[in-house]
Amino acid sequence: MLNRILILTIALLSITAGADKTKIDERALSYLKRYGYSTCESSSTSKVRCSESPALMLKTFQRYFGLKITGKLDKSTRAMMNRPRCTVIDKPSRSHGPLGMASGFKWPRLSLKYRIESFATDRQIKQEDQIRIIEEAFNEWSKYTSIKFVMVCPSCPADMFIRFERGDHGDGSAFSESTLAHAFFPTDGRIHFNSDFTWTAS
Ligand SMILES: [Zn+2]
Repeated sequence: MLNRILILTIALLSITAGADKTKIDERALSYLKRYGYSTCESSSTSKVRCSESPALMLKTFQRYFGLKITGKLDKSTRAMMNRPRCTVIDKPSRSHGPLGMASGFKWPRLSLKYRIESFATDRQIKQEDQIRIIEEAFNEWSKYTSIKFVMVCPSCPADMFIRFERGDHGDGSAFSESTLAHAFFPTDGRIHFNSDFTWTAS
């Protein structure tokens, strides 16, 4: 009986996949999967093959980024995918592991300390200006939440740790050439910016 159900499920999934004629290349498909637009669980132990509609994934992506919802890999959708971005998943689910479980993590208090451990290496922004800009960014967050952020010295105990890094920097999430920054969910607190980009004050 179970076998019949599995076969029927696979057959139905194949029909769904066959009915969706949306053309999408491997690169776009892996981008959509990488950022959480796939509803298939990523478990390799699953015995049921999971197929899904590229058009549906594209529509969700387009809605998320405020693009025209066509369900097609059109010019503006492709352009959005090619933009440098943060590597945090847009549509997290438990199958994405720690990066996908933002809702399960929170800070245990409303006053948080952060320290700046390194700076953007190009000399376009003076170090004091980098400090000011980061402070302003935290203050902007404070305006809309009850959380207060306090900057402490680079070697002081802190909740959040800001660094400018490049390439593979030893935290298991190497920067690709299109990754601007990434951060680890509470209470880890690491915030990394990609040093290979030229950071400006505007
Ligand atoms: Zn990192």
